[in-house]
Amino acid sequence: MVFELPELPYALDDLEPYISGKTMELHYLKYHRYYINRINSLVSGTNFENKDPDTIIKVADGAIFNFAAQAWNHTFYFNTMGPDADSLENTSISDVIIENFGSVKFLKTLFTKTALSLFGVGWVWLVLNSKGGLEIVRENNAGNPLRRGMFPLLACDLWEHAYFLDYNDRTEDYLNAFWRLVDWRIVADRHTEAMKSLNIYHINN
Ligand code: FE
Repeated sequence: MVFELPELPYALDDLEPYISGKTMELHYLKYHRYYINRINSLVSGTNFENKDPDTIIKVADGAIFNFAAQAWNHTFYFNTMGPDADSLENTSISDVIIENFGSVKFLKTLFTKTALSLFGVGWVWLVLNSKGGLEIVRENNAGNPLRRGMFPLLACDLWEHAYFLDYNDRTEDYLNAFWRLVDWRIVADRHTEAMKSLNIYHINN
């Protein structure tokens, strides 16, 4: 299997009161499992069968891209949250955020503004761009910034299934709650890895 449903490092109701167990049941057990099953059956017997998920996302189109990216994005999203998340102040990315955005508050404001400006469904991302700077970008539908040569550090799901049961149409309340769950240690580790990949890329090019 190219894609697997990841085991979550927390119980389904551990993200309460910010994200309910009911939402997680629907989102992780139903939607995420569906995306994983669909992509595995779509790539079966094709040239993508033995490719890694990142490669599939970078080169595939149509249904294979859509389901591969949704599978990837959800694993990434669920793995960034937790009930005992490390706070930003304790991590190495804190200074990087201040350098890039001026303050943590501004990063959060920009993230929310970018998320709320999305028309329809999609994702909002914090990424490392190819010049080594941080950026906030939005993507429609299953969009993933790997396709644009960026390194994803953090993502928030803006499909209604992610928040409608808990927040109805109050997307901004969901985004505010999301910050309570983000594990910044994981984001900082991704940033460290992405910087290494970027340096290797620059040396080879
Ligand atoms: Fe989702």
